[in-house]
Amino acid sequence: MGGSAFRTPRPLRSSAHLNPSQDGLGGAGVRTCIGCRERGRRADLVRLIARGERVVVDERASAPGRGAWLHCRSACLEQAVRRRAIGRALRMQGPIDDHAVWTWFGAIERAEHRVE
Ligand SMILES: [Zn+2]
Repeated sequence: MGGSAFRTPRPLRSSAHLNPSQDGLGGAGVRTCIGCRERGRRADLVRLIARGERVVVDERASAPGRGAWLHCRSACLEQAVRRRAIGRALRMQGPIDDHAVWTWFGAIERAEHRVE
């Protein structure tokens, strides 16, 4: 285990820069947000994965194993946490450490406010 390999969260650039080619509009490109339960394009959601007791953002959505999808909105994260949807979606047992996810979402929102 390389415990020190944890990367600092980095906000996504505008979703306009994301390459939509893999997604199309077919079923494979659609994910359900575990916060608001609405479906959205894969490019609009972020993937969360479990690392031991920690939950981290899988920015490239390429990590193996189970993932949970969430809109890039702190409101959706709050809903997911309140309902314990993250732990359930990732089949985690016991307390979970979602600190890294909150940090990541905080960086996203700050970046968006700066634009406006
Ligand atoms: Zn949502």
